[in-house]
Amino acid sequence: MVIFNEKEKLTPTIVELKNQNKTIGFIPTMGALHEGHMSLVRASKLQNDYTIVSVFVNPTQFNNADDLAKYPRTEEKDIEILTKNGCDFVYMPTVQDLYEENEVAKQYDFGTIDKVMEGASRPGHFDGVATIVAKLFRAVIPTNAYFGEKDFQQIRIIQEMVKQENLDVNIIPMPIFRAETGLALSSRNARLNNQQVNEAPFIYKILTDAVNLKNEGKNIDEVKKYVDDSFNNSPFKLEYFEITDEKTLLPINSFSNTENSRGFIVAYAGDVRLIDNIQF
Ligand code: AMP
Repeated sequence: MVIFNEKEKLTPTIVELKNQNKTIGFIPTMGALHEGHMSLVRASKLQNDYTIVSVFVNPTQFNNADDLAKYPRTEEKDIEILTKNGCDFVYMPTVQDLYEENEVAKQYDFGTIDKVMEGASRPGHFDGVATIVAKLFRAVIPTNAYFGEKDFQQIRIIQEMVKQENLDVNIIPMPIFRAETGLALSSRNARLNNQQVNEAPFIYKILTDAVNLKNEGKNIDEVKKYVDDSFNNSPFKLEYFEITDEKTLLPINSFSNTENSRGFIVAYAGDVRLIDNIQF
C-alpha cells in the first residue's frame, strides 16, 4: 500500500492510472477505522481496479473546537487495517495540504436538506462536509466514491454538491454495516462501556419494531409514539426520531404520501451520541 501525504504527489499518480483506463474507487474517512469502513473498501475492491482511502479529520465540519480536538486519531492502526484489507493507496494529508491559511467552508445552497436533523443541531456542518469532499474529489479524481448509509443525510448532501460542482464521479451508497447484535458500527462505539455495548442494540431493535408496526398498518403518529415510549423506559436519551422522505429529508405525515421513506434516530448512551436509520 502506498501512503500519500501530499496531493501534488497523489494526483499525478491517479491521472496516470486513469490515462491507462483504470477505474479508481474512493472511500473518504476521518480515520479510527473499523469493519464498517472496511465494508466500503471491500465493495470498492470488487468494483474498481484501484482503491484509495483518505484519512483526514476535517476541521471545517466541526462547530465545536473541543469535539475536533477529541476526535480519535489512530493513524498507525488505520494503516494496519487498510494494509490487511488490500487497500492500494491511502491519502493522509495535513490541513495545509487541503486548506489555505484561514480558509473557511464554502457556503452552499442545499435548500432544506442541510437544515434538518444533523444540520439543525450543527449549523455549517454540511457546508464543511461538502467543502472537504469537493476538495478530496478534485485531488483523488475517483471513478466511484463509496459512502455509508449510516450517514444518510450526508449522502444526500454529497449528491447535491456533486451536481452543483459538476464533478464527474459516481456516488455509491452502501448499507449500514452492523455487529451481529444489530448495533451499527461507529468510531464512537469505542467510548461505550461494557454495559452500554450490551444495551446499545436496543436502538436498532426499536427501529426494526417500528418498521414492523408500519407493516402491520400503524400510522406515523402511532409508530412515533411507540418509539418515544420505548425510549422513555430505557437507559438511552432520545434526541430525535424522524420519519422522512428519502429525497427531501422532510418529515412525512402519512406513509402513503411518499415512495421511499426512512426513519432516523439519534440517542445518547451516557455522553456518547449514537446515530442510526432504517428504510420504511
Ligand atoms: P467517518 O470516518 O465516520 O466519516 O466515515 C467514513 C465513511 O464510512 C462514511 O461514508 C460513513 O458513512 C461510512 N461508515 C461509517 N460507519 C459505517 C457503518 N457501520 N456501515 C457503513 N458505512 C459506515
